Amino acid sequence: MSQAKRAVVIGAGFGGLALAIRLQREGIQTTLLEKRDKPGGRAYVWHDQGFTFDAGPTVITDPAALEELFTGAGRRMADYVELLPVSPFYRLCWEDGYRFDYVNDQAELDRQIHARNPRDVAGYRRFLAYSRAVYEAGYVKLGTVPFLSFRDMVAAAPQLATLQAWRSVYGRVASFVEDDRLRQALSFHSLLVGGNPFETSSIYALIHALERQGGVWFPRGGTGALVAGMAKLFADLGGRLELNAPVGRIELEGARVSAVHTEDGRRFNAEAVASNADVVHTYRTLLGHEARGREEARRLMGKRFSMSLFVIHFGLKRRHAHLQHHTVCFGPRYRELIDEIFKRETLAEDFSLYLHAPCVTDPSLAPEGCASHYVLAPVPHLGTADIDWAVEGPKYRDRIFEYLERHYLPGLREDLVTHRIFTPHDFRDELNAHLGSAFSLEPILTQSAWFRPHNRDDKILNLYIVGAGTHPGAGVPGVVGSAKATAGLMLEDLAR
Ligand SMILES: Cc1cc2nc3c(=O)[nH]c(=O)nc-3n(C[C@H](O)[C@H](O)[C@H](O)COP(=O)(O)OP(=O)(O)OC[C@H]3O[C@@H](n4cnc5c(N)ncnc54)[C@H](O)[C@@H]3O)c2cc1C
Repeated sequence: MSQAKRAVVIGAGFGGLALAIRLQREGIQTTLLEKRDKPGGRAYVWHDQGFTFDAGPTVITDPAALEELFTGAGRRMADYVELLPVSPFYRLCWEDGYRFDYVNDQAELDRQIHARNPRDVAGYRRFLAYSRAVYEAGYVKLGTVPFLSFRDMVAAAPQLATLQAWRSVYGRVASFVEDDRLRQALSFHSLLVGGNPFETSSIYALIHALERQGGVWFPRGGTGALVAGMAKLFADLGGRLELNAPVGRIELEGARVSAVHTEDGRRFNAEAVASNADVVHTYRTLLGHEARGREEARRLMGKRFSMSLFVIHFGLKRRHAHLQHHTVCFGPRYRELIDEIFKRETLAEDFSLYLHAPCVTDPSLAPEGCASHYVLAPVPHLGTADIDWAVEGPKYRDRIFEYLERHYLPGLREDLVTHRIFTPHDFRDELNAHLGSAFSLEPILTQSAWFRPHNRDDKILNLYIVGAGTHPGAGVPGVVGSAKATAGLMLEDLAR
C-alpha cells in the first residue's frame, strides 16, 4: 500500500485552518504548525476574569463558505459551532447624533435613506445592483480562482473594465448617492479588509452585496468558538495541530521544498508546504537563506501595505442596553482622517472607531450583568509612522476611553474591570506582520488578483501561500476563499 502524501501548513489563521481541513479531508496527512499557544491568528481569543475577548474578526459573512468546510468532510457544522444572526448588521453613528442602522430589510433601508435624502433611495438601488454585479463577477466567479498567470488576468479584464474597477469604492458610491453621510455609510467597508475607500478598487464594493446576500453572523461563544470548531474538525479528520511551534526555516532541495524546521529544532518532512504566515515573513525569514526568498522578499517589501490597528479589549461591570452588537463611530472628518491614517507620519488628533459589544448577541461572553468589548482605531502602519507604541499606546488608550465615555459609554472608566491593548508592535511581534500591518498587502487594483502573491510560488513549485497576502485578500471570506484556491492547486499537484 502506498503511503499517504504529507503536507505541512505554517500558521493556523483562518486561511491555514481552512486549507489544512481541505487537505486532510482528501487524505493528505497534514501537519499544521502554529507559532502561538492557540490557533486563530488574527482571530485569537483571550479569557480574563470571566470575560471572553475575541482579538479580531467579529463580522462573520458568507456562512456558506464556512459550512462547506464541514459538509465537504461529511460533517455538520452545527455539531461544531452555531452561528447566530446579527441585526442590525451595524449601527453607524456620527458625533452630531445622526445614526443609521444598516439592516437587511429593504423597506427599512429605504425609509432611513429617504429621511436623509429622498433622491438617494433610487441611487442606493442602483448602487446595490452595481454591488451585486461586482459580487457575482469578483467573488462568486473569481474569488476562489488562483491567478497564476497573466493570462488569467487578461481573461478577467473585460469584466473588470465593464465594472469600472479602476475607480475607487468611494468614487463609485459617490456616483450613485449624493448625501455625504450615506456615502460614508456605503464606502467604509473596504477599511474592514485594509483598504482606503478613496484608493481601493471599486471591486471591493462587493462587500455590501456579500452582506446583503448571506447576512452577518456571530458564532455562539465568540469567533474563538468558530476557530475551535475548525480546529476540532481538523483533529477529528486525523490532522495534527502543533501549537507553540514557530517555524524558523523552510528547507529546499534543489528547486523544491523538502522539509520545514521549527525553532526548537524539529524537522517536518513534506511533499508540499503552504505558508499562512505573513508573506514578507515567509520569504524574508523562513526562506531568507535562499536566493529565491531574498529576491521575493525584496519585491514584496516594495509593495503598499494596509494600515495597522490599535485595539483595546475591555470588560465592564455593567451592560449598556442602548448598544448594538457592531457600532461604527464616525469622527468629525472622513476623507482627511483616512488620508492621514494611510499617509501621515504621526497619529491624527481625531479618530473613527469600531466598537464591539458581543454580549448583545451572546451574553455568555462576560460574567452575569457584565459586558466584554473591544474598540479599534485604524492607525498608520510602522512604515508610515514609526510610533513608539510603548509610550504612545497608553496615552492613545486614555484618549479613546475619554471619547467613548463622552459619546457612547458613560462611566466607562469607573466600570472598568479589566483591559488590554494590542498595538502595531503586537501585530509585528506576535503575528510576524510586516510593518505591523493588520491586513497584509493593501487591496488596490495593482496589487489585486494576479498582482498579489500567487497561491503557488512561481519558482518553488511545491511551496504554496494561503491567507490575506494572496488573492482575493483579507477578511474571513477572502482567506477561506484563498484556502480553496490553494487546496485545489496542492491536491492537483500531489495527485501527479
Ligand atoms: C482587529 C481585526 C478585526 C477584524 N475584523 C474582521 C471582521 O469583522 N470580519 C472579517 O471578515 N475580517 C476581519 N478582519 C480580517 C481578518 O481577521 C483577517 O484578514 C484574517 O483572519 C487573516 O487570516 P489569515 O489566514 O491570513 O491568517 P492570520 O490570522 O494572519 O494568521 C497567520 C498565523 O500564522 C502564524 N505564524 C506567523 N509566523 C509563523 C511562523 N514562523 N511559524 C508558525 N506560525 C506562524 C501566526 O501566529 C498566525 O496564527 C479583522 C482583522 C483584525 C486584525
